[in-house]
Amino acid sequence: MPQEKWNYNPFWDEVVSRMQSTLSEQESITWLNRISYAESKDHKLILAVPSLFIRDYVSTQYKSTIQSMLNELTGEQVTVDFIVKKVAPSSTSVTGGHVDSSEKSQDSNRNSHASTKTPAPMPKAQKRPRDPNINNSYQFDTFVVGDNSAFAYNVSMAIAKNPGVSYNPCLIYGGVGLGKTHLIQSIGNYIQDNTPELQIVYVTAEMFTNEFIQSIGEEKTPQFRNKYRKADVLLIDDIHFLQKKASTQEEMFHVFNNLFEANKQLVFTCDRPINELQDIADRLKNRFTRGINVDLQPPDFETRLAILRRKCEGKACHISSEVLEYIGKNVNTNVRDLEASLTKLIAYSNLLNKEITLDIAREQLKSTYSMSKDQSMSIDSIIRVVADYFNISPYDIKGKKRTKSVVLPRQIAMYISRTITDFSTTEIGYEFGGRDHTTVMHSVQRVEGMIQSDIAVSNSIQNLIRQAQSFKREK
Ligand code: ADP
Ligand code: MG
Repeated sequence: MPQEKWNYNPFWDEVVSRMQSTLSEQESITWLNRISYAESKDHKLILAVPSLFIRDYVSTQYKSTIQSMLNELTGEQVTVDFIVKKVAPSSTSVTGGHVDSSEKSQDSNRNSHASTKTPAPMPKAQKRPRDPNINNSYQFDTFVVGDNSAFAYNVSMAIAKNPGVSYNPCLIYGGVGLGKTHLIQSIGNYIQDNTPELQIVYVTAEMFTNEFIQSIGEEKTPQFRNKYRKADVLLIDDIHFLQKKASTQEEMFHVFNNLFEANKQLVFTCDRPINELQDIADRLKNRFTRGINVDLQPPDFETRLAILRRKCEGKACHISSEVLEYIGKNVNTNVRDLEASLTKLIAYSNLLNKEITLDIAREQLKSTYSMSKDQSMSIDSIIRVVADYFNISPYDIKGKKRTKSVVLPRQIAMYISRTITDFSTTEIGYEFGGRDHTTVMHSVQRVEGMIQSDIAVSNSIQNLIRQAQSFKREK
């Protein structure tokens, strides 16, 4: 059969435009635009996505719709398959299948906004003073892009190139040390360099809170408000800090409305999804999530290695690939820990004028590994958090009951214990009422499977992990 017979590319384009009209803008940007055409085969359309995570999500959510639209359009029974096409992790430029589709999304997004939104009115072409809170070393070209961060990176870059036009407001969320501050400040630096007539204000939510309280004490609230009202681009880092701060939230709400109505660009970061924040007024949550929400995930091994290599560039250090791989494999928490490990080894090597061998790296990084897994976290506290969540008693989790309402929480608690502590499956089994290590292994596998196939389960478990960790901190 000649290859051309099976060219489903035009049909795919039609499917995309039909789906776009039914999906929300955010769903389109977050999922649909990250799927791109790869290949046509005998009655088969192969689509490319940038990561396993996206593959799992789009195959459960959209595959059957895509398939039935294709069947209708082609009059044939066409099956759809997804392949994962990775973005080169060391690349900071906009290349590769996924990013192409992201770029496409930016363009279409811009177009779709063209008629309804006008860019923020340009103030007179006058250079504004640089914001002293923006650190010059946070630049887009020092940010190493991987699958975990490509989307957030592209959205940030699009904002920096066209502030106030598309993606407004933007919320970047993700765990500690994953590059939120780096990205939000890169936006600030880029705009300061390329559109210096725009007034940029960067603050952490903590700085905002302190300034606000101080302005009340000194009766300078009008000056405080004026500073924020004058911003063309407002960048607020770590908004989780606003939890339980009702009057600062109220102030933030007004600042938001003022700027948003004037088409000024707003960017926020948060260490968790907004719906997991507590004691934040719904109307403010609603403002934060009104535009685009992008997440930063922990980097995979390849990306960690690319980051390490990049951090070594320009530094007078000779660390072998073997050692870099060792760090990349073992320090798997976040970029901040990766950097800290590297800095420690470089300092050691410079101080003693010694080349870093694998043995030295192992010895020196011992303490860092215990940061990535937490030995001081007790299994009991995990059990308590999980039991609370499912409204059962810790005794049930450790006990012999095999009813459905107890088995799943028990398996989740085992999974969390295995994931965030250093205990072996045997030790965990012992803590769970003397169960066998194979039971623990089986539970871990089952929960892993559920996390992969169900985003809601995955979110709940992330939430439980955070609760377990903060439960420990409170002790
Ligand atoms: P967060 O604000 O999410 O806690 P940061 O932005 O402070 O994290 O990042 C922690 C450190 O890791 C910073 O020094 C930052 O420059 C670096 N970093 C994070 N992500 C990357 C990345 N993708 N490429 C290069 N450096 C990164
Ligand atoms: Mg930060």
